[in-house]
Amino acid sequence: LIQLYIPMNFLGVLYREIKQSLADLDKMFGLLEREREVADAAGAAALQVQGATVRFEEVSFAYDPARPILQGLSFEVPAGKTVAVVGASGAGKSTLARLLYRFYDVSGGRITIDGQDIRSVTQDSLRRHIGIVPQDTVLFNDTVAYNIGYGRTGASQAEIEAAAQAARIHDFIVAQPKGYDTVVGERGLKLSGGEKQRVAIARTLLKNPPIMIFDEATSALDSANERAIQGELRSASVGKTTLVIAHRLSTVVDAHEILVMDAGQIVERGAHASLLARGGRYARMWALQNSAENGSDGAAAVPNEG
Ligand code: ATP
Repeated sequence: LIQLYIPMNFLGVLYREIKQSLADLDKMFGLLEREREVADAAGAAALQVQGATVRFEEVSFAYDPARPILQGLSFEVPAGKTVAVVGASGAGKSTLARLLYRFYDVSGGRITIDGQDIRSVTQDSLRRHIGIVPQDTVLFNDTVAYNIGYGRTGASQAEIEAAAQAARIHDFIVAQPKGYDTVVGERGLKLSGGEKQRVAIARTLLKNPPIMIFDEATSALDSANERAIQGELRSASVGKTTLVIAHRLSTVVDAHEILVMDAGQIVERGAHASLLARGGRYARMWALQNSAENGSDGAAAVPNEG
């Protein structure tokens, strides 16, 4: 019997391991799906960054060829400047972020960084230079320290904690019995949307890349944290090329340029004051937000114009 027991026991362990791996794979599936969309070109070189000027040149894109999403979009984020994108839900704002991080390749036109087509460089080098804080962060089933430290290999505990402080998540972490060793993710402590986003912000602050993409969550953060983090993000993005998908007008006011998107096109563009003076769509969004703010605490979202 013992001869039978040992292999059966071994098989049991193996079965659990495989089951867990499959569960992990399942979790990662969304990510892997996207990763498979693009591949390094033969002989791709490493991205060389000087000032990190980002350009979208006549960019078109469709997830499904039958349904074009972006139609000939051109804009530039000059080195060290911030460009904000606003517009109705479904306009294609997050798609810009996904294309710049190269989750997908453009269907027409090109995206360059310091003149290099991002399809001609290795994905590894591209992503080393870009920090992305998405609306929905997927955390690894690992410790908080690992999830933040992932931003920069070899970061010290002190550096991880400094980033967590800046992202306003440190106090929450140390309040957990296991502190930075708390396992998060599906098999660990479940974090709220706002907490997950703060972990992603800490990771990006630690990574300290020359290009940053912030896809603001519409509702993940409460307004006190929202404003505190905006302050941190603003100081973190000083001198960095930053693309912000904005849902809060307070984020866009200081932007070098604001792009107003509708149905995959830029319908208005310019700095805050000139867009207000123009009295068009942005000015109406601004008026709507201001009226929404009356009597509230001033952190109302950019309204989606109907
Ligand atoms: P929101 O403000 O609601 O986040 P958005 O302006 O960021 O919206 P996108 O997420 O860029 O909009 O989506 C643009 C369009 O592309 C939408 O119509 C959406 O349904 C579609 N879309 C987004 N992701 C996919 C996908 N993976 N496959 C197919 N269509 C998609």
